[in-house]
Amino acid sequence: MQFTARSLALVFAVSAAAFAPLSLFAQQDLTAEERARRAAEREQRTQEELRSERPIEAFDSVWIEELTWMEVRDAMAAGKTTAIITTGGIEQNGPYLATGKHNYVLQGACEGVARELGNALCAPIIKLVPEGGIDEPSGHMLYPGTISLRQETFEAVLEDVASSLKAHGFEHIILFGDSGGNQSGMEAVAARLNERWYDAEAHFIPEFYEYRKVFDWMGTELGIVEPTNDGLHDDFVITSMMMVADPTAVRYEQRVAAGQATINGLSIAPKEETIETGKKLLGFRVRQTVDAIRASIDASADVQPRP
Ligand SMILES: [Zn+2]
Repeated sequence: MQFTARSLALVFAVSAAAFAPLSLFAQQDLTAEERARRAAEREQRTQEELRSERPIEAFDSVWIEELTWMEVRDAMAAGKTTAIITTGGIEQNGPYLATGKHNYVLQGACEGVARELGNALCAPIIKLVPEGGIDEPSGHMLYPGTISLRQETFEAVLEDVASSLKAHGFEHIILFGDSGGNQSGMEAVAARLNERWYDAEAHFIPEFYEYRKVFDWMGTELGIVEPTNDGLHDDFVITSMMMVADPTAVRYEQRVAAGQATINGLSIAPKEETIETGKKLLGFRVRQTVDAIRASIDASADVQPRP
């Protein structure tokens, strides 16, 4: 047998693996007493670490994924015991809007709701939701780029995320979504969790998705009405709210260059003006949602203290 560099490397890897379990054997040789002592030591070290002081000033964000675990711990200790789970989607939205449409809207919406509530943090946006059949594509899945979850996968993800938040002591878990296919799953999961939870409560907030009200408010308060319908999975409300997060997500520059900077008969130029409208629409949705969350928490039975 000829030893090439590769086969030598393999020999070393195999012998390293042969030695690796030594420490495991050593563990098995320990008396039950010694194993228990070491486990208690580890547990004590963890508890000390969990109590240790944050060595630097906290960062100002409502997004759990942008915070350190110490910042989350301290925010909760200061009263931020409500957590918000939002659901978006990756789907076809016509020729101009990025597939992550709902996720862009939720960036502004969850942040706005959390800051308005004042006692809430946002979990990472659940960007993947049911969008139609997978093996036999249907619905949005007929279009490239769409990513679908099975209903049971979606609900399992929601359940695990909500349960993780509850495990850390969040008392109110809020669920709202920006897409039609998400609503029933969130509602079902909230109901299931509430059947078994006593020291936390889940709240499904359908008011966030009442788009009809947003169009009505835009007409009565801002005097903006869509005169036509282009027949796309796109409209002025969603486009302007997306532009608050990122104008490239609606292909603003490319559309201006191609003379396509309209949707349903309304111009999306100038950019600054549409972004201002988007902010007002988001503000309206935030207020509607915050009112609904507060009503749901007020109406709920008191969360029981943990034993
Ligand atoms: Zn959608």
